[in-house]
Amino acid sequence: MKEVLSPNNFIKDIIIDDIKSNKYGGKVITRFPPEPNGYLHIGHAKSICINFGLAKEFNGKCNLRFDDTNPSKEEQEYVDAIIEDVKWLGFDWGEKIYYASDYFEQLYEWAIQLIKDGKAYVCDLSPEEIKQYRGTLTEPGKESPYRNRSVEENLDLFQRMRKGEFPDGSKVLRAKIDMSSGNINLRDPVMYRIKHEAHQRTANKWCIYPMYDWAHGQSDSIEGITHSICTMEYEDHRPLYDWFIEQLNIFHPRQIEFARLNLSHTVLSKRKLLRLVQENYVSGWDDPRMPTLAGMRRRGYTPEAIREFIERIGVGKKESLVDIALLEYCVRKDLNKRAKRVMAVLKPLKVVILNYPEDKVEYLEAINNPEDESMGSRLVPFSRVIYIEKDDFMEEPHKKFYRLSLGREVRLRYAYYIKCVDFKKDKDGDISEIYCTYDPSTKGGWAPDGRQVKATLHWVSASHAFEAEVRLYDHLFTKENPDDTEEGKDFTDYINPNSIEILKNCYLEPSLQDAKVGDRFQFERLGYFCVDSKDSKPQKPIFNRIVTLKDEWKKIQKIGQP
Ligand code: ATP
Ligand code: MG
Repeated sequence: MKEVLSPNNFIKDIIIDDIKSNKYGGKVITRFPPEPNGYLHIGHAKSICINFGLAKEFNGKCNLRFDDTNPSKEEQEYVDAIIEDVKWLGFDWGEKIYYASDYFEQLYEWAIQLIKDGKAYVCDLSPEEIKQYRGTLTEPGKESPYRNRSVEENLDLFQRMRKGEFPDGSKVLRAKIDMSSGNINLRDPVMYRIKHEAHQRTANKWCIYPMYDWAHGQSDSIEGITHSICTMEYEDHRPLYDWFIEQLNIFHPRQIEFARLNLSHTVLSKRKLLRLVQENYVSGWDDPRMPTLAGMRRRGYTPEAIREFIERIGVGKKESLVDIALLEYCVRKDLNKRAKRVMAVLKPLKVVILNYPEDKVEYLEAINNPEDESMGSRLVPFSRVIYIEKDDFMEEPHKKFYRLSLGREVRLRYAYYIKCVDFKKDKDGDISEIYCTYDPSTKGGWAPDGRQVKATLHWVSASHAFEAEVRLYDHLFTKENPDDTEEGKDFTDYINPNSIEILKNCYLEPSLQDAKVGDRFQFERLGYFCVDSKDSKPQKPIFNRIVTLKDEWKKIQKIGQP
């Protein structure tokens, strides 16, 4: 795999300096620490590419660590999905997968140590009271009446918390830091809460669970992480991250924050994505419209395209909204090189070629990929009755319409010139069939007398094509930034009602009948398509449109240029 990061960014500079000064013995150990409370999305891909990319580049190592400290929201299904997604993106975490839950015993021991040192205490305030006592950005907090319990009492209570003697929410363990700190995270943060709930890995062993801030830095330290790379929202947590490690006097990783990825026309928060799933706005986490890696994989995006996208957006500290057209551009660019061209008619209109013999079939050579000669060619059957796209015929063509209409000649890709001589309408007045003649001297699609036509149409032979379902997708949200909700609105109010169009009666060239799950093609003139992994059956592929052929991104870039 080629290098993922662009030549330089501020994180890389820090690492290069640390290597030069031999800060961690020249070692680089990073980690990707998802909480298994949802599927990974394209934002996580940024974090994965940065963490695994840096480790690879500096001959280090990147741990995949599940931050599984909250059994109420976490599930094994999410653990499995995350493992599959990281692998699919193309990264290798070595022999072992790490879990914060493996450190519960060690964290407990360290908590005891802090209690003994007078740096942690058991507090009986309710969650609401803790919030009230915490103060605000402009007001200092108030000390808990339980703050000055003796070490003995704290030890006793904390041990009994672990044993399960107290109900949920009745007690917590807090760090004793500074209720008047300018940084709210340092106002005696909660380290443990009581949750009488089974955990997907530790089952009923524990009924107290560590909070993120208490678990995360210590997990990093245990694993010898040198650079703990996270998103900007943890910047204010860094003093707490450092405080715990300093009090315990253990190995001290360096936390570095970068700007999270925001993508236009979608949402990248697991909480919101979970709502889309639970409230049935989509068919599941892997719905091809979802910004999840599972959704993108099912849609037909390639890991190469996603990695290139992440490389192009770069790593910085300033948040921005990245246009989804850039991601689509990367997908198109990748598929253009490797997808086989085929012909498929999505909205069919029957064409009878009057002067073509009824029982004749010709096999015409079609190029598989003009970008790559090594992909060769195939033979496509041609016969008297074919389908073309409904849109490619107009009864009364407007000025800019160059395709088929009465009396006009066009080229059938790889076949012949045809000329429309008549058409028929159904009882609703819609065009139901058109009649053409073909010029036998134009075989291959070129006229020996040099006469030109203005349009080339794709087509399939009616008796050879097979009928299939094709699904077209558009952006999931109509609003560029659905997180930016107007008053009284919810992000779901901006869902695009036309984000999916299901076409049941498409006609596809026969070679596609054998297409396998995950195979990708360019349907000429229509876009890139992929065999759906969930709903296809053997010999009955269903196709998802990955992207159209039109490149919005190039257009946007051009507009941006002076
Ligand atoms: P969210 O709150 O958006 O659902 P999260 O931060 O709770 O995401 P985690 O499972 O904790 O999800 O994320 C694992 C790692 O991925 C963290 O280091 C987090 O900073 C990073 N990450 C999450 N979202 C993004 C994003 N949009 N861009 C870049 N990194 C992200
Ligand atoms: Mg998180």
